[in-house]
Amino acid sequence: MPILDIINKIEYSKEDLLELLSISSKDDLELLKKTAYEIMKQYVGEKVYLRGLIEFSNYCVNDCFYCGIRKSNRDLPRFILSKNEILDSALWCAQKGYGSVVLQSGERNDEAFVDFVEECVRDIKKITISDSLPNGLGITLCVGELSYAQYKRLYDAGAHRYLLRIETTNRKLFEQIHPNNQSYDKRIECLHMLKEIGYYVGTGVMIGLPKQTIEDLVNDLVFFKELDVDMIGMGPYLMHLSTPMKEHKDYFFDNQKEIYKLSLKMIGVARLYLKDVNIAATTALQAMYPWGREEGLLFGANIIMPNLTPMDARKNYELYNGKPCLDEFQGDCFKCITTRIESTGRQVALNEWGDSLHYISRKRQEL
Ligand code: SF4
Repeated sequence: MPILDIINKIEYSKEDLLELLSISSKDDLELLKKTAYEIMKQYVGEKVYLRGLIEFSNYCVNDCFYCGIRKSNRDLPRFILSKNEILDSALWCAQKGYGSVVLQSGERNDEAFVDFVEECVRDIKKITISDSLPNGLGITLCVGELSYAQYKRLYDAGAHRYLLRIETTNRKLFEQIHPNNQSYDKRIECLHMLKEIGYYVGTGVMIGLPKQTIEDLVNDLVFFKELDVDMIGMGPYLMHLSTPMKEHKDYFFDNQKEIYKLSLKMIGVARLYLKDVNIAATTALQAMYPWGREEGLLFGANIIMPNLTPMDARKNYELYNGKPCLDEFQGDCFKCITTRIESTGRQVALNEWGDSLHYISRKRQEL
């Protein structure tokens, strides 16, 4: 069937998703991009919402085989930002008009850590209330797997979004890229807990993992729909040479172009399929190609997460090699990011949370 006929369908089957992700001609790719952009315009509008990213700690109790800050990477200097450093970054973010902040770190589930995050969340809320942001910054957390009680405490403190990536919904592949003590079922359980508590829930996958198939990516999209998530943060798989996955480096270096293209297709197809969710154009796209994030916006993404982490810490939060923005000063970031976004013809939303409209409609349906 011609791609146009598939794109124009109201509902997509798995076979349709497979066809769309398998697009190879330039014309079909352009068609996907244009249609995904139109769907985005229709369902979530053209504005791009900013989430200032603070990578506040690279301590992690886990050992994911693909990750540069895994606990077994013993050469890496470890850091945790002080509360004041985090608050300074958050205040800068609010004053610039970013609207929202993301607190991201390696995973720790000890009470001292959760106490610290809870305090930061409370204080960020307090200090960022202003005429422009009457409810303070919107706060997204991305700190991994915690208990129900811990998630609830952080929600009650004022965080209202949570990003927890499943990384792949192929259970076998998940097990191949994680040690035995990290379980697929636990990750799913956490996602359900977050939804039950009331968070806007985001998840995502790595695209182009060794041994991952297009069918796997189709199943990832179906998983997003079935879990009824509000936000998607997915991007190309990127290699870190100090991890066990370095054994796949030939595969990675030989296929970078394809992985990049597949990542853009995933954004476009996710937009067609899921319609009103928030989709991030992730920094990993920029790591592959200097204008990768902007391309992601043209394929239907509506969220950008500019990095606000102080430079010294940022260098030690290298999840993958080739992380961009390691030589700019924080003061220039705002200008850089707005210029880049505006170059795509999109408007940057200032002082707006830009919450997922999907959450609002799913809550309405629950009533
Ligand atoms: S991916 Fe997350 S949980 Fe896994 S090692 Fe890296 S920081 Fe830790």
